[in-house]
Amino acid sequence: MSPYPADLEAWRRAGRIAGEARELGLRLARPGVLRRELADQIEAYIRGHGAEPAFPTNLSRNWEAAHYTPSDTDEVALAAGDLLKVDVGAHIHGAIADTAATVEVGETHQHDRLVRAVREALEAGIRAVRPNGAVDEVSRAIERAVHAQGFKPVVDLTGHSIEPYLLHAGKSIPSVGGYSTASLREGEVVAIEPFVTNGEGHIEDGPFGNIVRFRADPGNRDPALARAFARFRTLPFTTRWVTDPAERAALKGARRLLQTYPVFVETGRGWVAQAEHTILVGPSGAEVLTAV
Ligand code: MN
Ligand code: MN
Repeated sequence: MSPYPADLEAWRRAGRIAGEARELGLRLARPGVLRRELADQIEAYIRGHGAEPAFPTNLSRNWEAAHYTPSDTDEVALAAGDLLKVDVGAHIHGAIADTAATVEVGETHQHDRLVRAVREALEAGIRAVRPNGAVDEVSRAIERAVHAQGFKPVVDLTGHSIEPYLLHAGKSIPSVGGYSTASLREGEVVAIEPFVTNGEGHIEDGPFGNIVRFRADPGNRDPALARAFARFRTLPFTTRWVTDPAERAALKGARRLLQTYPVFVETGRGWVAQAEHTILVGPSGAEVLTAV
């Protein structure tokens, strides 16, 4: 039996759409732009090209590393000097792509080295991918590239394997060597995502970042809740996407059924840059699915 996903073309298509949506986000991230509108435009692009967002667009800034998405009432505008992580997911019937890049808003050029370091770390990690190769080889390549630029990898945030409808599917890809004994299997889909900082290299939980996820199927007791589950399954979502008042009310009353995500904040309030591609482990190395 082939080790590759049967719907491999859907994974490739989702990857291309997510990559294009990421690049759109980077281009649109200018001073004065509302971050809610930026997220809406990225997600509209994904929907307009035959995919669905796999999670709410993460627009974490500065010492926020991840897991912030604007709420539907967010009126905050991007400012010159913001170090913005545009982290985008697209899926086609559960074939998921997850990709991110970092942009310094307004071309103030205070963090060029940090942004370059994370990009080089991602490339080094991707080059280290081999079928049956050790995850630790990838981790060590990332760590070496980050240290070569004089920064720290964020130890607590890792890449991850991806399975249908499951964004974080159990295998972690650390950005530091010595943590993983797993190996990569041909046909596997994996997100590689170093985070790099000039802070302490760790994160802590910040406030709620407007992202939730169903822990399990709520069943049919509440029709509005069942509709919401039919739409999002167990993928992360945000109430910014829920316009139906009955579904909104049902979700509000169902907090126990929902996992909530805090924003991850760098413990030393260091600046954080992220770069991420979803790759397929091919016969001789990585096929980058989220390249454009
Ligand atoms: Mn990811
Ligand atoms: Mn991501």
